[in-house]
Amino acid sequence: MSSTTHKTVLIIEDDPDIRHLLGIRLKHAGYEPIEAGNGTDGLRPVHERRPALVILDIGLPGMDGWQVLQRIRDVTTTPVMILSARGLEAEKVRGLQSGADDYVTKPFGHQELIARIGVLLRRATDEGEPETEYADPRLQIDIRSRSVQADGVDVQLTPGEFRLLLALIQHVGQILSPEQLLELAWDDPTTTNTSRVKFTVLRLRRKLGWDDPASSPIESVRGFGYRYRLMSEALAPVHAAN
Ligand code: CA
Repeated sequence: MSSTTHKTVLIIEDDPDIRHLLGIRLKHAGYEPIEAGNGTDGLRPVHERRPALVILDIGLPGMDGWQVLQRIRDVTTTPVMILSARGLEAEKVRGLQSGADDYVTKPFGHQELIARIGVLLRRATDEGEPETEYADPRLQIDIRSRSVQADGVDVQLTPGEFRLLLALIQHVGQILSPEQLLELAWDDPTTTNTSRVKFTVLRLRRKLGWDDPASSPIESVRGFGYRYRLMSEALAPVHAAN
């Protein structure tokens, strides 16, 4: 799509006051907001405009935010920030399990929200890793294009899942504690919720088709953490030739 879409932020929110105010704040911060008042109207620009980020309200008329999130995740890894009136831990966990990248509870401060958007966009566009490719017998990653193949099958990962996988393969054979993984894969210092790591690992394994503990390269080491292990002959990471 056009090169101007990299700062487009889609707001799917049925409350017109919250939506308009958010749109104004985003515009002031240099983004191009697109407003949608329900899930159906919101999904169209996801396809047509390819927004850089989606702010998604959970309590929507008709299709609720969870259903909208599922539809978004079927087609794109665009960062999604959930906006919800419910501050319950279970809701946050559900959001992160469902592939959301951040979860903000209403009422929220606009400055904080804009800052969080900046973090998500930097993460999504700026995986500034020195290596550009990784390959072993089970896994191939092109870090710049964020394409991932597990056992020869293309896999679509969310930015959070992708960062977790990168953290693991950058420490092949080494056990990383949930706290270490939080630090490596989430750059929000206020995040201390290690269950976030657990759920992202579970989701990552499922997406890669690596659910079976006996054959999964992503190993859980009970009481310690997680380790990426090479399952057949050890191959050194391959660096890009181009
Ligand atoms: Ca609402």
